Amino acid sequence: MAQTDDHTPKVRTRFPPSPTGALHLGGARTALFNWLFSRHHHGDFVLRLEDTDRQRSKEEHVRGILQAMEWLGLDYDEGPFFQSQRFERYCQAVEQLLQSGRAYWCHCSPEILEQKREQAMAAKAKPMYDGACREQGLGPAPGAVVRYKGPRSGNTVYNDLVKGPISFDNAELDDLVILRSDGSPTYHLAVVVDDIDMNISHVIRGDDHVNNTPRQILLYQALDAPLPLFAHVPMILGPDKTKLSKRHGATAVMDYRDLGYLPEAMLNALARLGWSHGDQEMFSRQELIDYFDLDAVGRSAAVFDQDKLLRMNQRYIQAAEASRLAELVRPFLAPRGVERPDPELLSACLPELTPRAKTLLELSEWAEPFLKEEPAMDPAAAQKFLGPAQAPVLERVLALVQELGSAPQAMEEAFQGLTQELGLKMKDVAQPVRVALMGRTFSPGIFEVMAILGPERIKARLKRALDLARE
Ligand code: GLU
Repeated sequence: MAQTDDHTPKVRTRFPPSPTGALHLGGARTALFNWLFSRHHHGDFVLRLEDTDRQRSKEEHVRGILQAMEWLGLDYDEGPFFQSQRFERYCQAVEQLLQSGRAYWCHCSPEILEQKREQAMAAKAKPMYDGACREQGLGPAPGAVVRYKGPRSGNTVYNDLVKGPISFDNAELDDLVILRSDGSPTYHLAVVVDDIDMNISHVIRGDDHVNNTPRQILLYQALDAPLPLFAHVPMILGPDKTKLSKRHGATAVMDYRDLGYLPEAMLNALARLGWSHGDQEMFSRQELIDYFDLDAVGRSAAVFDQDKLLRMNQRYIQAAEASRLAELVRPFLAPRGVERPDPELLSACLPELTPRAKTLLELSEWAEPFLKEEPAMDPAAAQKFLGPAQAPVLERVLALVQELGSAPQAMEEAFQGLTQELGLKMKDVAQPVRVALMGRTFSPGIFEVMAILGPERIKARLKRALDLARE
């Protein structure tokens, strides 16, 4: 373990995703817990890509993972390291284990192993390697692998920082392959060598790795290295208490960005997957760092509730600074044909729209008709509200705006006068005007809409609507 000046071990955590797919919620939660723990303890956070599986590891997934980390604001002090660049080091460790008698060459062919596995299954025994080559003193050969030579008796015990004391019977752990026949290291060897070399003090990961831990502890011991501390965080379930999957909604972190979630909402929801701080629901990044520690990570499975995330997102949208929100919503406006929104118009309409939007996507939907030179016209709305019958009303409103401008109070009074004069209800005036200005039947209050658009845009849009109404 690395030492700080006062000789207490420095906290060093790591996040070691395999770039075989997108970063999912489970992985992101693991990354976040490691990041928070290191930040809380003024330690280091290391990023390492476990790309030893050359077939399944893809450059695009590496990029996707790095992007997701950046989006969440999970910065790292060291890395990204790539296991594919460290093969020589793993081979050296294998050599060390062979030399010290803690590993051996195994010549059992895959066919023989499969046969033995089937026999064990038929006899209802746990299929495990029978140690045929363990004492043979074999050397390298085509197709041969190297196995770790584990103890056949005793227990491997450790104190999990989340789960408490855990003990495994060594006789249950078979001799792991550490070097494949193609010369590549297996996950167990690479992860242990890296965590040793990178001075990792705390291994925080999903509890699907609990069973790997005793095997890895044995490898640390065989390599004469000090052990890190282990913390296995509970698995994540959907609201129906089954393992989280696509059935429960998007599972990739970046899908949430594309659906219009704010990173702080995501971070908050991820932090609450297995960790809590009293009843507090919303945390700033700094609060998460200040409060996070492993003693408040629960043992029972965590539930990911997308509806809750959505509500949270709405609150973060409302809390976000207007200028930032304007930046955040832009990528959602572009596909709607609003490439360069008028900055003044955008900041004028956002305060009116944020209370209505749960996501940036919804926000962009609301904002689109304000920002488009000519908003798209809903044909059904035009059919119903922009006909010859409404033309006189629209003409009168046009004249009013020409005379008075578009300030809300003046408009409200003018509309009231107009309804009385024409014997109409407010909605008979407001709805055609709304469709004329917004191209649809829903929007914020009509006087707010008018105030935001200003007289020039209103006039242009009313004229367009009049052309339609008179057709
Ligand atoms: N690459 C492994 C995974 O993605 C890392 C597991 C570990 O933390 O040791 O599951």
